[in-house]
Amino acid sequence: MMLRLYNTATRTLEDFIPQNPPTVTMYNCGPTVYNYAHIGNLRAYVFADVLRRTLEQNGYQVNQIINITDVGHLISDADEGEDKMVIGATREGKSVEEIITKYTDAFYADLEALSIEAAQDKGLESHFPRATHHISEQIALINTLDEEGYTYTTSDGIYFDTSKFPRYPNFAKLDIKGMQAGMRVDMGEKKHVTDFALWKFSPSDGVIREQEWNSPLGIIRKGFPGWHIECSAMAMKYLGETIDIHTGGVDHIPVHHTNEIAQSECATGKPFARYWMHSAFMNVDGQKMSKSLGNTFTLANLREHGISPEAFRYWLLTASYRTQVNFTWEAVKGAQQGLSKLTKIISSSPESTDIDQDNLEKFKAILNNDLDTPNAVAFLQEYTKHNKESRNVRQTAIEMCNILGIDVLFRRPIDNFLFPEFVQSLMSDRKQARDTRNWAESDRLRDEIKRLGYEVKDTPEGQKLEHIEVAK
Ligand code: AMP
Ligand code: ZN
Repeated sequence: MMLRLYNTATRTLEDFIPQNPPTVTMYNCGPTVYNYAHIGNLRAYVFADVLRRTLEQNGYQVNQIINITDVGHLISDADEGEDKMVIGATREGKSVEEIITKYTDAFYADLEALSIEAAQDKGLESHFPRATHHISEQIALINTLDEEGYTYTTSDGIYFDTSKFPRYPNFAKLDIKGMQAGMRVDMGEKKHVTDFALWKFSPSDGVIREQEWNSPLGIIRKGFPGWHIECSAMAMKYLGETIDIHTGGVDHIPVHHTNEIAQSECATGKPFARYWMHSAFMNVDGQKMSKSLGNTFTLANLREHGISPEAFRYWLLTASYRTQVNFTWEAVKGAQQGLSKLTKIISSSPESTDIDQDNLEKFKAILNNDLDTPNAVAFLQEYTKHNKESRNVRQTAIEMCNILGIDVLFRRPIDNFLFPEFVQSLMSDRKQARDTRNWAESDRLRDEIKRLGYEVKDTPEGQKLEHIEVAK
């Protein structure tokens, strides 16, 4: 079955046809590195990773970019409020550069923990470009827009004049008249409610700031880029003027992506992205998970509760990327148990590398329908349950898990407490057996654990588990 994807630009499911097969260019709007990513943020990157893996299954080579926003993102997503990077630096008494390093590294660690393939390119400017390393590209784009007559300058910055781009409201189906009527905040010197800053000037208070550069258009004052321009400049630099796929969270549709389209298409006269895809929110008790509401959790918080990153990823996959999910501890614990069951079946299935092609193809066809992960996970569970004894279940199920990015046999080094739940329960049974000097039972349990792929060692500090490397 041909790969079909839901395109926000047309609000329809479309056949996916890249410009230059087998290459697919993909840009994912990345994190603002002023704090740890919360698990709602991480949903956007797990979604992009499932998309990448599905594209690869279809024979494509994906050139993927996740940008690192390290300047210019103000609290309101529009052009108001404090600068997020300054908030981070003030909070921790560090320089902005130290904050950028700390939280970019933390982001890479999260990507690795979640088996996100892009992590293999961490630190490479061509895959994780930093906005502050691309100031000249952003200035060049602003200069082009100015030459074409799309900008105007106010006392606090250089703005994009959205009235010059009549298609501006189309992407997000914006009701501009309604927005004007509902305006509660003062527009300042902005000409239209939707106009946005391409560049902001530093306040003229004589204070030297860590993040300020010479302004475009020969303006003497120093300043810094607006939040949106970095994505257009870096996407074009590394992926070309028209990219195949652009992703982000749904909150990006009305402001950030609408602005990216306006500035990119006015500068080049070409479509900016051919497929726009957006992942839905993660809620807690019906409210969006967000730092401002104080209801966020990180991967580290999940670990403290004994939830592994694999289990979290597995839980995310039980819902479509387009539906909102509600985070509860019961839900992720249930997912961890579901994954444990799968691990148990696969690790105790007959050793063989035979593949059940028919069922593997059925599984791939499910994913090709706009990344239908909930049905793919259900299919995987049913297939393994009903074919436990068959020779080819092992390798087929491992293959399906690889496509989903689930490290089902826990082949990566992990902390002791993150071993699958059923191994942990065998370990506690064995401890009890040893405490009561029931050596026969203790040895029997050691063998049972070994059959599941884990070696128990008795050390002065108690039992230690190691994963036995088995051939794939
Ligand atoms: P930020 O670091 O704030 O720029 O956000 C990074 C990504 O996370 C963006 O694509 C947002 O759309 C997304 N995001 C933020 N909050 C949530 C949430 N509660 N659920 C899902 N995605 C979110
Ligand atoms: Zn972006």
